[in-house]
Amino acid sequence: MAFIEVRSLTKKYGAAVYALNHTSFTVEKGEWVAVMGPSGSGKSTLLNIIGGLDVPTSGQVLVDGQDGAALGAAARARFRAERIGFIFQQYHLVPYLTTLENVMLAQYFHSMADEEEAANALRCVGLGDRLHHLPAQLSGGEQQRACIARALINQPDLILADEPTGNLDEVNEAIVMSLMAQLHRQGRTVIVVTHDPAIARMAERRIELHKGRLTEVKLFAHHQEEELRDELLHAVWKAQETYGTVGVRAESLPEFAASRATFILMESGGWIELGEGRVSLTAKGEQRARHVIRRHRLAERLFYDTFGVAEELLDENAQRVEHSLTPEVTEKICIFLHHPETCPHGSPIPRGECCRQAPRPG
Ligand code: ADP
Ligand code: MG
Repeated sequence: MAFIEVRSLTKKYGAAVYALNHTSFTVEKGEWVAVMGPSGSGKSTLLNIIGGLDVPTSGQVLVDGQDGAALGAAARARFRAERIGFIFQQYHLVPYLTTLENVMLAQYFHSMADEEEAANALRCVGLGDRLHHLPAQLSGGEQQRACIARALINQPDLILADEPTGNLDEVNEAIVMSLMAQLHRQGRTVIVVTHDPAIARMAERRIELHKGRLTEVKLFAHHQEEELRDELLHAVWKAQETYGTVGVRAESLPEFAASRATFILMESGGWIELGEGRVSLTAKGEQRARHVIRRHRLAERLFYDTFGVAEELLDENAQRVEHSLTPEVTEKICIFLHHPETCPHGSPIPRGECCRQAPRPG
């Protein structure tokens, strides 16, 4: 049996409105699934039923073999609190409690409230200096990060997020998605409702709802051509940096050396030039590589400076989110981080337009 089994799920409002109409699918443990579809297509209804916040008209949802609807209200609330972390578009923080108290409130079902544990969860989302602020004193992005800390405090194995970045600016969107990527990396199952195709691309699988019916389930090819290109350009740039040469021997790109087809494909795309066993970047390739390196190293900075992620995990974390960063968002992150000159490992971050207009830190 899969971790989540959605079986012919139907939710009817009145006589005519089917929010969900015999929807079925499964989710494996540790999967990251994006749910997309137009407004009113039943996405929130689906998430609420999976999470036990709502019950279906007919059909069934099993989470780890457990049918939430078959439990009494109290047992369902407990199951929810212990196993599931919710992240909503509206933050639902209690307005008269501090950030710390809001997170501690969520510990209630789990164990005794533990202030140090709650403070740590907030430090992990970059809110270590906002523990005693009220929600109204936080920005939207900070409130959403507080919600993530609250959702994580009980170590849930299932994260349900309903348009978690819907109300955020692009920098906070990148921060929140970085946090989601971290959660997934830790082995949690993540289901995220989103309108944003860039965010949906970060997931491993996409489910589309249309008028309460599941119309499409697309599996993403693991290595789409664009990502392969960016990885190759990244590798060439890094090797050039390491050896201090223009052009590098194919053997110094071990992850690509075995696949001559990749080189030929990228040469025909005008990204690289091949000659005498050496690979070099064309002008177009160099421009792209500069952006690829810049967003990768800025993403590492973001993980390092904002969340205190350990150095050896930065590369992996950055790889997960960088493909969703457009040049505009990359620039905003650069401004947010005050135009850092190097990545946390000390390699230079290529300058962008925004850096030329702003003085660099001493
Ligand atoms: P989405 O999240 O995809 O925008 P929803 O799941 O919120 O869609 O809603 C799906 C459909 O069910 C919509 O047509 C909506 O109007 C209807 N609906 C949702 N909640 C209720 C409710 N409490 N009463 C009546 N209709 C509802
Ligand atoms: Mg909705």
